[in-house]
Amino acid sequence: MGRRKLVAGNWKMNGMKSHLAEIEAIGRIAAERPGVEVGIFLPATLIMAAAEGKGGAFIGAQDCHMNVNGAHTGCLSADMLAEAGAEYVIVGHSERREDQGESNADVAAKALAARTAGLKVILCVGESLDVRDAGNAEAVVCEQLLASLPEGAAADWLAIAYEPIWAIGTGRIPTMDAVASMHAALRAALASRIGAQESDAMRILYGGSMNGDNAAELMAIPDVDGGLVGGASLTAAKFGPVIAAAG
Ligand code: PEP
Repeated sequence: MGRRKLVAGNWKMNGMKSHLAEIEAIGRIAAERPGVEVGIFLPATLIMAAAEGKGGAFIGAQDCHMNVNGAHTGCLSADMLAEAGAEYVIVGHSERREDQGESNADVAAKALAARTAGLKVILCVGESLDVRDAGNAEAVVCEQLLASLPEGAAADWLAIAYEPIWAIGTGRIPTMDAVASMHAALRAALASRIGAQESDAMRILYGGSMNGDNAAELMAIPDVDGGLVGGASLTAAKFGPVIAAAG
């Protein structure tokens, strides 16, 4: 297997120029942990400046358009983000699926556009609390994954993030057994589409209220290959322990 852990901070709609020093501090922590791949997914307005002081971290974007250019007011293409200094992009975050009504097909198209622009991708999937309570979270999330998976999905440019929607920003997380079971189910679903070898190489991150207190236990689960971290990634003081927990 030998999957290198990936720890990704999702800053969402947070971050001004005054936070560049914090980003540099995270970059210095990342430089001390070469065994872990560390990324900071920033508002697009900060990407260019942050890329200059990123240290051992990479800079990512939080979304891209599926088209290369055109009449899409307010949107950014993957090429634009790559030119600004992004190396990765998140697609299919539940906040975009909900707020912008993005479909699985949109998510797959965005992932392909990113790939074409030379960006790597973190593709998010996850269930609502209703689905979890109804007892069919694994079936629903695996179906969502397969419907969102782009053509040519491969471990050298694509990682998956399992993010139970009810765990995002709430301080609640699933049991360790539930995380282990979901990640194993997702890996099996991937294998059914892209083959066992590629599936074994692809990283599946956990996201949803991960922090310095729970990261080590979550990332010790065999199929958990890192984390997508929101609130606990906004300062070096909080993100540092999560990075350290990954190795
Ligand atoms: C996220 O939004 O991807 C996320 C995991 O947020 P938080 O860590 O704040 O739950």
